Amino acid sequence: MMNRYLSLEGAIGAELQASLTPADAIALLKDGVKRSTTEETTQRNRSALLTDAAGGQYPYAAVLSCIDSRAPVEQIFDAASGDLFVARVAGNVASPDLIASLEYATKYAGSKAILVLGHTRCGAVKGAWAGLEDGHLTGLLGRIQPAVTATKAEVGAEDSAENLDRCSHVNVRETMGALRQESDILSGLEAEGKIAIVGGVYDVATGEVAWLD
Ligand SMILES: [Zn+2]
Repeated sequence: MMNRYLSLEGAIGAELQASLTPADAIALLKDGVKRSTTEETTQRNRSALLTDAAGGQYPYAAVLSCIDSRAPVEQIFDAASGDLFVARVAGNVASPDLIASLEYATKYAGSKAILVLGHTRCGAVKGAWAGLEDGHLTGLLGRIQPAVTATKAEVGAEDSAENLDRCSHVNVRETMGALRQESDILSGLEAEGKIAIVGGVYDVATGEVAWLD
């Protein structure tokens, strides 16, 4: 599976996508991080990718991540055009349009895994921790409050970088739970073994991803 992926010139195709298990998709994500952190990134043929793009898309995974400029999803996973659906929203929360996007990515477009990707030094987590209320941010940051409450109960209310990063981990778990709880489509696909829902926290200082169990 990995060799077939690495030997691609253009984009991942229908046959390769269909042959992947959820575990394969997660392995591809993990291998991508290894390549990007060791500077052994793959160079695929740009014109072949564009040619293939006109014919459709068969991404192996979908990533729900934060908008943070230091967490560029395709770079983190050494991914090419056509590899990943990427849904980004401050604080990687599971709001309805984001859930819908992931339902599309998996049920209708065949992706085999959903990765909820938080990151260290997250401004949205910091804002939620401080109880920031302003404009539309109030509602968005409210979705992070369950993680803030749980983390403060565990480590106290000091807004140290360590505590805030801990909250990013908890927030990923909360988002994973919300995807399962609020989407019958996603929880159904997971129960059937057609997709896996996994979590990780990207370290903006090292480029590594800490994978949640
Ligand atoms: Zn963030």
